[in-house]
Amino acid sequence: MSSKHRKLFVVEDEPDMAGLISAAAEIEGYEVETFLEGDTFKKSYHADVALILLDLSLPQVDGVELIRFLSDVHHPGPVILASGLDESILLSAEKLAQEQQLNCLGILRKPFRIHSLQLLLSQAKTQASERNLSQSKNTPPEKEKPLSPLKPRPVFVYDDLLQGIQKDQFIVYYQPQIDVKDQSIFGAEGLVRWLHPMHGLIAPNHFIPLMEKYDLIDDLTWIVLKQAIQQCQRWLEGPLKMKIRVSVNISAITLKSLDLPERIDQLTRQYNVDPTQIVLEITESALTQELVKSLEILTRLRIKKFNLSIDDFGTGYSSMVQLHRVPFSEIKVDRSFVMQMEKDHEAQAIVETIIMLGHKLGMTVIAEGVETEKVFNQLGPLGCDIAQGYLFAKPMPGAAFEEWLSENHALKTTLTMPHFIK
Ligand code: C2E
Ligand code: CA
Ligand code: CA
Repeated sequence: MSSKHRKLFVVEDEPDMAGLISAAAEIEGYEVETFLEGDTFKKSYHADVALILLDLSLPQVDGVELIRFLSDVHHPGPVILASGLDESILLSAEKLAQEQQLNCLGILRKPFRIHSLQLLLSQAKTQASERNLSQSKNTPPEKEKPLSPLKPRPVFVYDDLLQGIQKDQFIVYYQPQIDVKDQSIFGAEGLVRWLHPMHGLIAPNHFIPLMEKYDLIDDLTWIVLKQAIQQCQRWLEGPLKMKIRVSVNISAITLKSLDLPERIDQLTRQYNVDPTQIVLEITESALTQELVKSLEILTRLRIKKFNLSIDDFGTGYSSMVQLHRVPFSEIKVDRSFVMQMEKDHEAQAIVETIIMLGHKLGMTVIAEGVETEKVFNQLGPLGCDIAQGYLFAKPMPGAAFEEWLSENHALKTTLTMPHFIK
């Protein structure tokens, strides 16, 4: 990228500070545009901005809201957070930015030395040139591509969602789950996407909450369950000839339908799939509502030999009693801890504790959000059983998953990924 195209957006409400930052950045070769408040920044935003410097305390639209905005538009470039606020607030904002999958380059604590700013600016330059280099080498992308790239999030109304269901626009993608010990395939998580005729492929976070709000989530759950179970049959009876476990996410609302166990049972019989191949993932927070009814349904599912997984563990507030009462077969450590464990000792301690807890309760432990080899190598010694994340593969359609598996998996033996052979 030539320096004249290196654009820096500075969102900072103090004109003096904005001026100072601009001057330092211009020396580093950036073309700077400053915004004194969030709304004008949002209006001018475009994805080609090389770097964004964001002050957290702004009037009206605050920095945290802008973090969410950048996450919604899948902003690809680096972001620097700046603030004179308390250190712990800055750290929380940084964590939030990372959770929202923003590339947070660092934080600038005010008052700051010009040298700290220069350091971050030059880091951004290095990152950009490394990225250009790796793109020119044609290395495969490690991360899942933005699903609805760089467009503001469309707003859907009830009729849009209903049409999507009626016109069969939802499709399940599959992400592999890998055995930490021998890197063989353990299973796949089914993750729904909306193949929208106008907006392209849309990520679930943009429509699942609406489906719940409009009472359409049950319909979607059954679409996903049916596709996933059919896929299981295809993998078993097609050329792959493999019995692959598939996990499906069940919303808290669906967990209240008393006929859920019978209906899933019927579906698995229809497609000749064993219930032990199906895993139902339930988030920890789903268990805090109407627990008694959910408990009954969960217990009946377990009796029918379906597996139950407690998802996003560590982010909700389930008590030990609940964990003990619900017959879960596996526990998924939330990706926010896993993604931070290479840098953050507290996150590592949390992952370690959840692994111990899971094993004490006889559950299989899955770490999700494994993006780097370093994290993967940390998981083995901690005793984690299964890993899932972009390091292995992003979610992909059923046929692509089959292809991925044939390439990476000498049937039922170890994955042959060259970068794992030390
Ligand atoms: P989840 O159940 O926690 O699913 C894991 C999410 O993490 C997926 O996002 C996956 O693409 C992403 N992911 C996987 N590996 C990595 C990694 O290494 N790094 C990072 N940063 N992310 C990774 P996705 O597909 O966008 O799904 C988001 C959420 O939407 C899911 O979170 C789940 O709660 C919900 N969801 C997806 N499909 C369904 C569904 O069929 N029904 C319901 N009720 N919810 C669903
Ligand atoms: Ca899940
Ligand atoms: Ca999860």
